[in-house]
Amino acid sequence: MKVIEHLERGQTSGAPPISFEIIPPLRGGDVKNLLTLIDDLVEFEPPFIDITSHAAEVFYEETPAGLQRRVKRKRPGTMGVCALIQNKYGIDAVPHVLCHGFTREETEDFLIELRYLGIDNVLAVRGDDSGYQKPLRDGRSANRYAGDLVAQIGAMNHGRYLAEDLLDAEPASFCVGVGGYPEKHFEAPNLTTDIRHLKAKVEAGASYVVTQMFFDNRHYFRFVEACRAEGIQVPIIPGLKVLSSRAQLASIPRNFYVEIPSALADEVEAVGDERVIDVGVEWARRQSDELLAGGAPSLHFYVMQSAAAVQRLLAKVKV
Ligand SMILES: Cc1cc2nc3c(=O)[nH]c(=O)nc-3n(C[C@H](O)[C@H](O)[C@H](O)COP(=O)(O)OP(=O)(O)OC[C@H]3O[C@@H](n4cnc5c(N)ncnc54)[C@H](O)[C@@H]3O)c2cc1C
Repeated sequence: MKVIEHLERGQTSGAPPISFEIIPPLRGGDVKNLLTLIDDLVEFEPPFIDITSHAAEVFYEETPAGLQRRVKRKRPGTMGVCALIQNKYGIDAVPHVLCHGFTREETEDFLIELRYLGIDNVLAVRGDDSGYQKPLRDGRSANRYAGDLVAQIGAMNHGRYLAEDLLDAEPASFCVGVGGYPEKHFEAPNLTTDIRHLKAKVEAGASYVVTQMFFDNRHYFRFVEACRAEGIQVPIIPGLKVLSSRAQLASIPRNFYVEIPSALADEVEAVGDERVIDVGVEWARRQSDELLAGGAPSLHFYVMQSAAAVQRLLAKVKV
């Protein structure tokens, strides 16, 4: 079932969907931890679970022969995790599909595999510059922005594959989500320009938006208002993260370019390490209740690798 249908169903039933985002294990990592994580999340009956994608990155290593440039893809496995979620657990899997690190031809192949797995949804994102540029040999091509990727998926949904000479190509029917940034994407010159680029992604065929995490709901409500004023009518799902360690006061702003409000930072500073998670859970509970009361269509939690904080939170949220 499509994400958009889950959202409509939530609206009709008055029970907004709660969805999660997880990350595949590191290369060589144990699938047992992943299964435990999914088991923990399944108890909350998520209608869909997102699985992130990871492009290859460039690393430099000191070797006896000098500094060596290495290209490594640390977290493969998005498709396998999707197959597991979809077929073992019967939950709709939403694989993330990237521009960076993949040719359009590889993306088409990935999408074909997803169709055969019965996957109806994808989230199209650009990815960040990891220092690695996929070489484009033999006429291969690459998507530059997420909007280009959405257009590629939209074309497949109309039966237009990259090879133009295909006869009777079967149209795909992916429901496509895209990312949105209530505090502005870090490369955008301003929020208005960023929202115009978001509108272009919707016009290219995206059916819904999932936001970057934010810790102050005013960012979300203002963003939704600005998107509506720009003519973006699709559902905008708030993405939330439960703060669970003191180190995240620095790592979250550094990695995601979002603010931690001073009230939250002060509360974290005032407690011992073992109580930081209590502060994070209570903050996220207030955020969740206010978002739902303010008309958010659903809640999407960045769980990544551990369900502990979100389990404690969802025992308290009124849905
Ligand atoms: C919900 C969500 C899930 C994510 N999942 C993953 C994941 O699985 N793996 C991963 O590596 N990363 C993921 N990311 C991170 C994402 O890849 C980065 O934030 C990336 O820097 C931007 O991705 P985007 O899709 O928003 O890019 P885009 O929409 O392409 O925008 C990137 C920047 O370019 C600008 N822009 C867009 N279109 C144009 C245009 N036509 N001309 C000029 N400028 C333009 C935008 O304003 C923005 O500043 C996710 C982000 C979100 C919000």
